[in-house]
Amino acid sequence: MQAPLNPPLDTPSPADPVTASRIRIVLVGTQHPGNIGSAARAMKTMGLGRLVLVAPQKFPHNEADMMAAGADDVLASALEVETLADAVSDCRLVLGCTARSRRVQLRELDPRMAAASVRADAEAGGEVALVFGRERTGLENAELQLCHAAVHIPANPDYSSLNLAAAVQVLAYEVRMALLGIGAATAAAAPTPDAAPHAELEGFFAQLADTLDAIDFHKGRTPDSAMRKLRRLFVRTGLDSQEIRLLRGVLADAQRMARLAGQGRD
Ligand code: SAH
Repeated sequence: MQAPLNPPLDTPSPADPVTASRIRIVLVGTQHPGNIGSAARAMKTMGLGRLVLVAPQKFPHNEADMMAAGADDVLASALEVETLADAVSDCRLVLGCTARSRRVQLRELDPRMAAASVRADAEAGGEVALVFGRERTGLENAELQLCHAAVHIPANPDYSSLNLAAAVQVLAYEVRMALLGIGAATAAAAPTPDAAPHAELEGFFAQLADTLDAIDFHKGRTPDSAMRKLRRLFVRTGLDSQEIRLLRGVLADAQRMARLAGQGRD
């Protein structure tokens, strides 16, 4: 018998279901229920099952059921929450998908790089979220600010906005390729296993904003730009819980000194 001419060099390993179970797809403010169903189907075909809906406009809905086809189990187990912060509070990696490139001061990843990071973090035990915006208006700036990085599918720059469920399909496919270890998707991505959960980081940012006010850092300027830059700086460092406690201790002292100074002036 003749040996095959082109034996496969890399037989893909089956995607690890435990790793996949740490990955959630978050749809924010979805307007058309059919898109929720199509997204569920797109997820299931790629081995993802955790869907979180942030304030969907119409759900449950028969159009969602129709479009989900055989993925009704994904819809049935979907979680509904009120805010994006609620949807990602326990996540160590939160990636926001945006149709508009370089709109925010966030690190920007292409879907392949994003999928490699998703795999690295989920394999290291972290909870990971891929966040998608509204059909008409996408993610609001404040919502993108809750993300650690932005993901942009490098589509036709003159027509770059994919249908919501199509965008979910592209990202879910890349995540599957990464989990299967196929192709360039395995590009080195350092996991951030010790990174603090999202809610802790947000608590730190809230206290940082209060402290900057208390020490009159902004001097009449609006705080938005400085806070965006500071967020970007701290997100890049991948703070762990202990480091956040240390920084919050520093902030607490600064706040105390600002109060004392204020009393001294009265
Ligand atoms: N008109 C909106 C587009 C919304 S499309 C806007 O300009 O922002 C709905 C969602 O699909 C987006 O919020 C985003 O999460 C995802 N999406 C669509 N096209 C994308 C692209 N090229 N790259 C990454 N995500 C995309």
